[in-house]
Amino acid sequence: MKKNKILYIVVPCYNEEEVLHETAKRLKLKLESLIAENQINKNSKIMFVNDGSKDNTWDIIEDLHKNDKLFTGICLSRNRGHQNALFAGLMTAKKYADIIISMDADLQDDIDAVDKMIIKYYEGNDIVYGVRSARKTDTWFKKTTAEGFYKFMKFMGVDIIYNHADYRLASKKVLEELENYREVNLFLRGMFPLVGFKNDIIYYERKERFAGESKYPLKKMLNFAWDGITSFSIKPIRLVLSVGIIMFIISLLILLYCIVIKILGKAVSGWTFIVCSIWILGAVQMLAIGLIGEYIGKIYSETKQRPRFILSKNLNDE
Ligand code: UDP
Ligand code: MG
Repeated sequence: MKKNKILYIVVPCYNEEEVLHETAKRLKLKLESLIAENQINKNSKIMFVNDGSKDNTWDIIEDLHKNDKLFTGICLSRNRGHQNALFAGLMTAKKYADIIISMDADLQDDIDAVDKMIIKYYEGNDIVYGVRSARKTDTWFKKTTAEGFYKFMKFMGVDIIYNHADYRLASKKVLEELENYREVNLFLRGMFPLVGFKNDIIYYERKERFAGESKYPLKKMLNFAWDGITSFSIKPIRLVLSVGIIMFIISLLILLYCIVIKILGKAVSGWTFIVCSIWILGAVQMLAIGLIGEYIGKIYSETKQRPRFILSKNLNDE
């Protein structure tokens, strides 16, 4: 593939004044060296997305842009959360760039992996996922909860790449297709695999945040995981139906048991009727809820209006 493509690095920032200068410095060095090696076009840029920060983040971004056109930025009207901020950045960057890489502002994700991602892109991959090979510096709690999250998502039927967060390269083509996914509750790491196209993985070691503190406290992390499951899977609804079916079978067994007790004359008067009613009613209700759930699940998938297919090639166009 012909090199010299325009690269945009998209960085969502929420209250990141403590890290921004250092991040900008390191990313600038990276971009300049890639330009010098003729890997990317000289119009490549670093795009910061200010996600409604309450500190000086936006002032810093404006300053950076004023002094050096290598930096650019967009500002959201208020805090919309990491996924929305990132999506805003990706959708804006794709207008100007051929290759878009997203990464966090704290540079926990090794920026030297960018070189490997770009090589993979020129080898013909439209998406390159950055995967954490080790989390030596993450706390035990962060590591366990994060890795548990990936396993649980898999169990819930969501196709995500193990230990891949939002450090990835995507081509303009991929982002143009991603724009057709109309859902409002974004879970980007589940959406990219849905888009498809040729893709590959590169590994890197996750480091420690060099300044500031995590903008993902436990509450946000749980919300994010919950969003991921409920935006991608109807397995929880299916579970209700399964429980209903199991309860129904149990209730039939209980019915049988009650009849036997009754025939043997061991039942107190009225007992058989009450026990059977409780079980059968419970089972029927559960079944009914599960059935309604099935339809809600269908409605839910329909309302997303996700594309039914995406072509990667059409020989007629060539
Ligand atoms: N972030 C954001 N909006 C938010 C929360 C976080 O744009 O509401 C950004 C944040 O500035 C950072 C990235 O998302 O660039 C990841 O956040 P963080 O590094 O705090 O998460 P962690 O690495 O601890 O999971
Ligand atoms: Mg971080």
